[in-house]
Amino acid sequence: MDLYRDNILDHYQNPRNWGSLTGSAVKVSHNNPSCGDSITVSLKLDSGKIADIKFTGNGCAISMASASMLTEYIMGKSVTDALVVKREDVEKLLGTKLTLARLKCALLPLETIRQALVESAKTRLPKPS
Ligand code: ZN
Repeated sequence: MDLYRDNILDHYQNPRNWGSLTGSAVKVSHNNPSCGDSITVSLKLDSGKIADIKFTGNGCAISMASASMLTEYIMGKSVTDALVVKREDVEKLLGTKLTLARLKCALLPLETIRQALVESAKTRLPKPS
C-alpha cells in the first residue's frame, strides 16, 4: 500500500524515544477510538525547552510512526516552537498526504504532545524571588 512508505514502516517497527520518563515528567494519555490507537507521552522541560520526551502506545502504523517522528522533531525545541507544529508539519514528516480517517491517527500524537506541553508549563512552580 502506497500509504505505508518505508520511512513510516521504519519508525513503526523501530520507534524512536520509546518509553516513559520518571520523576518530574508530565504524562498525558490520549486515544483515538475510531482506529483504536492509544498513546502516552511523557515530557520534561528545562528552561522552557523540551529536555526529554518519550512515548509508549498501541496502534496503527501511522499513529505510532507519527509519534516517533514528532518526538524526534520537537526534542530540544522551545515550548513556543513546539506548540506551533501543525498538521502540515506532520504530513511533511510522514511524507504523505493523509485521508480524513488517517489524519486522526497522525494527529493523535500531536494533540497528546500539545496537552503535555500545556500541562508542563502549568505545573512548573514559580521560582522564589
Ligand atoms: Zn490509527
